[in-house]
Amino acid sequence: MPSPAGSKLTGGHDATDGYPGNGVAQDGPPPVGADGPVDLGATAARRRYDRGVEDLTRAYRAVPPGERVRLAKKSSNLFRARSKANVHRLDVSAFDGVIAVDKENGWADVGAMTTYEDIVDSLLADGVMPLVVPELKTITLGGALTGLGIESTSFRNGMPHESVLEMDVLTGDGRVVTVTPDGEHRDLFYGFPNSYGTLGYALRARIEVEAVEPFVRLRHVRFGSIAAVADAIRSICDTRAYEGRRVEFLDGTVFSRSESYLTVGTWAADAPDVSDYTRSNIYYQSIQNRSRDWLTVKDYLWRWDTDWFWCSRAFYVQRPLVRRLVGRRFLRSDVYWKIMAFEDRYKVKARIDARRGLPQRENVIQDVEVPVGRLEEFLDAFIREVPITPVWLCPLRQRDPSVKWELYPLDAAETYVNVGFWSSVPVHPGGDPEHHNRWVEAEVERLGGRKSLYSTSFYEERRFWELYNGPVYHALKRRYDPDSRLADLYSKCVKGG
Ligand SMILES: Cc1cc2nc3c(=O)[nH]c(=O)nc-3n(C[C@H](O)[C@H](O)[C@H](O)COP(=O)(O)OP(=O)(O)OC[C@H]3O[C@@H](n4cnc5c(N)ncnc54)[C@H](O)[C@@H]3O)c2cc1C
Repeated sequence: MPSPAGSKLTGGHDATDGYPGNGVAQDGPPPVGADGPVDLGATAARRRYDRGVEDLTRAYRAVPPGERVRLAKKSSNLFRARSKANVHRLDVSAFDGVIAVDKENGWADVGAMTTYEDIVDSLLADGVMPLVVPELKTITLGGALTGLGIESTSFRNGMPHESVLEMDVLTGDGRVVTVTPDGEHRDLFYGFPNSYGTLGYALRARIEVEAVEPFVRLRHVRFGSIAAVADAIRSICDTRAYEGRRVEFLDGTVFSRSESYLTVGTWAADAPDVSDYTRSNIYYQSIQNRSRDWLTVKDYLWRWDTDWFWCSRAFYVQRPLVRRLVGRRFLRSDVYWKIMAFEDRYKVKARIDARRGLPQRENVIQDVEVPVGRLEEFLDAFIREVPITPVWLCPLRQRDPSVKWELYPLDAAETYVNVGFWSSVPVHPGGDPEHHNRWVEAEVERLGGRKSLYSTSFYEERRFWELYNGPVYHALKRRYDPDSRLADLYSKCVKGG
């Protein structure tokens, strides 16, 4: 069985000598492991990182005042509009890669621009994985820490930021500070999640890791009502077990009001056979067609990426012939994302649809958290108002109930369910082209839920700051970005600035 978070594992790589002299402002002494200070030291990866910090700090300070900065990253998973005016793109390529793994103490030091695909490749070679691996391959560690993330371990491990031990952040005022839960910059540690790069950019994070087994054994359990799904989620979150078997992974898929599945996963040392959903077979369809399955741990972690959950349908790659022609290499969420970004820019399909007399469509791409007790009410109304299925469910509990994540506060005693829906719906003739997104936003608020800010939002400013802790945010902004070199959270997430 895997060890619990932070427990002793064996082996690891890149244990090194000496604490770095990179000019990073530390929150006190070097981190302490079970056997004394953990050496970070001068491996090639660490030296590259240290040089990167120096270069980036210099480059950032040289940006003329008034010019906005943005990360020059190869990929993105952001779905809201972004202004392109007067933007300076920062080269952050030095912060890509795993720097060190300490299996003994259960952590890894990772450049914050590293994609989870690369993190997983590197860590699985050491027999460990992050406590939460968002399911799209090109989400980066820093993106998940600042923009939140969720996956099927979130019912036991919370969100990715909840397993960060320390982090280096380039702040808006050009310093690089190391933030920890109890150091001088603890305010930034707890205020970083949901700040979307408006207080600073994460450059490195030390994250907890947990041991893996080679396989994940899956059970797809069918439910005839949303109420029954909600009851089962509550019970699994309380007991960490289903029908007497320990549950390590938990998510769900709603196909209709009367057909939903919870997929419960358990580590397995061996498997009678393993499925492959990276080529001709399609994972989400298997949920309806088989009740048990086995996947390698790597294929399990990326089970949703190949078809971007089910969204690949819109690109016709679920048709067997097209799928064969496209091939494994292009069946990836980032390929679909690029096609969508192209359409968003050039509106080729929208124009063809208009010429064919088809209605305008509204993209409804959102992830929201609702308390499990309101799940049935939310989905009942959602299915009536927003004609999108399937819908993804991912239960979530705050990992450490004693702390407060300032900009995305959840009720630590509550079990939430992340509901994800990513599609488009026809706009009613003469109607509001943003009607469905507005409806979702209002409904989530009415039910005491929370909405991720990676996609379209409409909040009126006063309400936004009530929901996302304006007083704490503004205090952080004054301390770490007093000259507003970085955009403000409201303008970035709602106004698209
Ligand atoms: C269709 C869809 C489905 C999604 N589903 C899931 C899901 O199932 N599970 C999940 O976990 N997440 C999901 N997300 C959300 C995703 O995790 C967030 O959007 C995340 O912020 C994306 O990370 P990225 O690395 O791609 O960042 P980007 O898209 O490049 O940037 C996102 C934001 O984070 C900021 N940022 C990026 N890197 C850093 C950094 N190092 N330091 C500070 N700020 C930074 C950027 O400035 C930007 O504001 C989904 C998003 C979409 C669009």
